[in-house]
Amino acid sequence: MFDYLVVGAGYAGSVLAERLAAGAGKKVLVVDRRPHIAGNAYDRYDDAGVLIHTYGPHIFHTNSKDVFEYLSRFTSWRPYEHRVLASVDGQLVPIPINLDTVNKLYNLDLKSSELEDFFASVAEKKEHIRTSEDVVVAKVGRELYEKFFRGYTRKQWGLDPSELDASVTARVPTRTNRDDRYFTDTYQAMPLHGYTRMFEKMLGHENISVMLNTDHRNIVGFVPFKQMIYTGPVDAFFDYRFGKLPYRSLEFRFETHDREVFQSTGTVNYPNDNLYTRISEFKYMTGQRHSQTTVVYEYPRAEGDPYYPVPRHENYEIYKQYQQLANETPNVHFCGRLATYKYYNMDQVVAQALALYNKIMGNKPSDLAGA
Ligand code: FAD
Ligand code: UDP
Repeated sequence: MFDYLVVGAGYAGSVLAERLAAGAGKKVLVVDRRPHIAGNAYDRYDDAGVLIHTYGPHIFHTNSKDVFEYLSRFTSWRPYEHRVLASVDGQLVPIPINLDTVNKLYNLDLKSSELEDFFASVAEKKEHIRTSEDVVVAKVGRELYEKFFRGYTRKQWGLDPSELDASVTARVPTRTNRDDRYFTDTYQAMPLHGYTRMFEKMLGHENISVMLNTDHRNIVGFVPFKQMIYTGPVDAFFDYRFGKLPYRSLEFRFETHDREVFQSTGTVNYPNDNLYTRISEFKYMTGQRHSQTTVVYEYPRAEGDPYYPVPRHENYEIYKQYQQLANETPNVHFCGRLATYKYYNMDQVVAQALALYNKIMGNKPSDLAGA
């Protein structure tokens, strides 16, 4: 008899399995329908021997000391600050939009204070910031919005920014200084030996059994357990009772090149040209030295593996119905990006999983790692 069946071996499932096993002495069975652990953070060496991220570029960043310290139990780190360029008007310029972006694009020589005036002169006044269009035009005006955000967002989501919650484009700040880092979090680092190794350590406890290539539906009724942690799509769990929740998907196209470097930074975004949104080169992130290099192109798709919840009001209304049902389902706990329909980064999922562990164990919420 297992104390817990954990469905999904991504961050949500693996953190909870580790805590329940190592922190509370529970016997845990983890199942994943994929042939590997680590969920969407899974990485592996490709045929050329380059360490790649199978589900697109994953860069770890967090402001949470607790989350960083918790994960540090399972990995050492390699400091890495991600930098992104956008291909706009035939030039490669920094995104988030900063002082250099505007100066390069318009052939100007503005100082920070002058850029503030420039933004103020082009920004559109908005009473309420509701949509992903509002966020950007209220800060940098319509022209920069169209150059950097409109096309990219329409491609990525199959929706106009005016149809998406403000929170989506609000992920990308605007700066008046020359800081060209994609993230400004306190902790920015990559697991030294990759994500999969980190997950292997997390799931290596003797109280944890892992079954891959296994859908939880093939287990329930055959393997006895007391409680379940579910980290797959919440609508699938309830057989789409309230209709399908939209999840956006991607197709990844990998290319290996017989040269050391392919592009000048970790990721180049293509807001307006091409069918793909961005090209990422893994060696920047992993620090691997190799005579060849592998890059990945991301093509947004409506169908396929669920990767992104789609943040907009009507979807949230559907999710609320599932959430209520989830709350009323005894002995099943829902956690993670798919099960709680939240556009979470990796660190946020770790924090959510640690908080759920503490709730289950009746620990103080502040006791993040519940050690
Ligand atoms: P998942 O990793 O999706 O894990 C859920 C697991 O459950 C999956 O392995 C799935 O196979 C399994 N499962 C589902 N249903 C069943 C079932 N019925 N039976 C058995 N198994 C099941 N975050 C960052 O912080 N930084 C980044 O740079 C970043 N980049 C990203 C890039 C892309 C292209 C994507 C898609 C995401 C990115 N993320 C990034 C987000 C990150 O991937 C997620 O926050 C995190 O992986 C979510 O973990 P999770 O455990 O909630 O879900
Ligand atoms: N975005 C954009 N242009 C860019 C970068 C981002 O329009 O050059 C918008 C787009 O809607 C994207 C969102 O901002 O989906 C969030 O960007 P982020 O890089 O955080 O996306 P993720 O890495 O999660 O796919």
